[in-house]
Amino acid sequence: MVTIDNYDFKGKRAIIRVDFNVPLNDKGEVTDDTRIRAALPTIKKVLAEGGSVILMSHLGRPKKNPDPKFSLEQIVSTVEDRLGHKVAFAGDCMGAKAAEMAAALKPGEVMLLENLRFYAEEEGKPRGLAADASKEEKDAAKKALKEGPQKEFVKKLASYADCYINDAFGTAHRKHASTYLIAEYFPNDKMFGYLMEKEVKALASLMEKPAHPFCAIIGGSKVSTKIGVIKSLIEKVDSIVIGGGMTYTFAAAQGGKVGNSICEPDMFPVALEILQLAKEKGVELVMSPDALIADDFSAAANTKEAAADNIPEGWEGVDIAAEGKKRFREHILGCKTILWNGPVGVFEIDKFATGSKEVAEAIAEATKNGAYSLIGGGDSVACVNKFGLADQVSYISTGGGALLEYIEFGDLPGVAAIRK
Ligand code: AMP
Repeated sequence: MVTIDNYDFKGKRAIIRVDFNVPLNDKGEVTDDTRIRAALPTIKKVLAEGGSVILMSHLGRPKKNPDPKFSLEQIVSTVEDRLGHKVAFAGDCMGAKAAEMAAALKPGEVMLLENLRFYAEEEGKPRGLAADASKEEKDAAKKALKEGPQKEFVKKLASYADCYINDAFGTAHRKHASTYLIAEYFPNDKMFGYLMEKEVKALASLMEKPAHPFCAIIGGSKVSTKIGVIKSLIEKVDSIVIGGGMTYTFAAAQGGKVGNSICEPDMFPVALEILQLAKEKGVELVMSPDALIADDFSAAANTKEAAADNIPEGWEGVDIAAEGKKRFREHILGCKTILWNGPVGVFEIDKFATGSKEVAEAIAEATKNGAYSLIGGGDSVACVNKFGLADQVSYISTGGGALLEYIEFGDLPGVAAIRK
C-alpha cells in the first residue's frame, strides 16, 4: 500500500478530500479554523514533494446548487492565510472551468473546488422528490441517481488528478462520492493523509490492545443514537460510565420517575437489554445516583439536586450532582484506558456544566497518572476545550459519527476504500 511518505508526488496532481466543514459567522467569516489547520501537513507535504493540489470538501448541508451561504469561496482567504500560499477557487466542482483549472495546474499550485454537496451526486441522495413520494418512488430515484449522474460525478472528479488522498476522518463513515467511490479510480495511487493516518492509528491501538481497566464514558442526549456503540463496547471494555440525557431512559425503564427529563420510552426494551447484556458479560455500568434538576432548560432556571430516579414533575435532569461526580471521578481515576464521547450534562449552559467539567478533569488527572485517554465527538471535544484541558488528554479525535461507527463496526468505508 502506498503512503503519503513513500509516494512520489513529483509532477503529480493530488486530489485531496479534506474536511473544511468549518463554522462561519453571519458575515461568512471562519470562527474556528481547527479543521483547516488539521489539513495543512498533508497539503504542505504534496507541495514540498513537487506535486500540485486540488482540494475538495463539503460545507454544511446545502440543498441546492449554488447556495452562496454554503459556498467554500468564503473560506479561501483563511485557507490561504493558514497555508501561506495562494489558493485558486474553481467556483464549481463539475463545470468546464474546474476541469480547465485542474488541467492547467502546475507543480506547487493549489486549487479548491466548490462545495461538493451542492451536488446531490456527492451523497447520492435524490432531491426534488414530492413530499408524499412513496418508498418505492424514493428507492427508484436513489437507484437512478447512483447508477447515472453519481457515477459521472465521481468519474469527473477523478479525471482532475493523478492520485487521491483522503484526509477527512470526520466523513470517513460516509459512502459518498469524494470519500469512498472515487478511490476506485486510483487503485495504485490512493492513500491516507496525515490526519487520517493519525486517527486510524489512534483508534486501532485503542480498540486492538487497550490497557485494562478500559472504561468508556458515553454521554449525550439520547440512547437511540448510541445503542450500537454501547452494545459493541460491552464486548470490549471493563466498564461503561453512562451520563447525559440517556440516564433518564435507563432510570425510567427500571420504573424510576424522571419528571420532564429527556426520555425515550420506545427505547425502554433496549435499555433493559443493555443492562442485562452488561451483567452477562461482567461489564460494570456506572451511573450517577443523583441529578442536578432544573425547572427550565435555560441559564435562568431554578436548580436543585434529586435522586436520578425520583425527579418531580415540572423538573428535568440536566447534569450529574454531587454523588455522581464523586462516583464518576473515582471510577475514572482507577482506569488505564479511557474513551469519552458525549457530555454528561447540558454543558453548553455553565450552570449545568460542572459534571462534564469533573469528568474532563478526572480524565486529565488519570492521563497524568499514566492512563491513555481518547476524546471524540464534537461536544466532548468542545468540553475539554471549554475547560482548557485539551493538552492534558492523550488524543483528541476529529470524528464524532466516524469514531462511533469505527468502534461499532471495526472499520469505516473511507478507510476500507483506501486499504482495499
Ligand atoms: P450527542 O450529540 O448525543 O452526543 O448529545 C450532545 C448533547 O447532549 C449536548 O448538546 C448536551 O447538551 C446534551 N445533553 C447532555 N445531557 C443532557 C440532559 N440531561 N438533557 C438534555 N440534553 C443533554
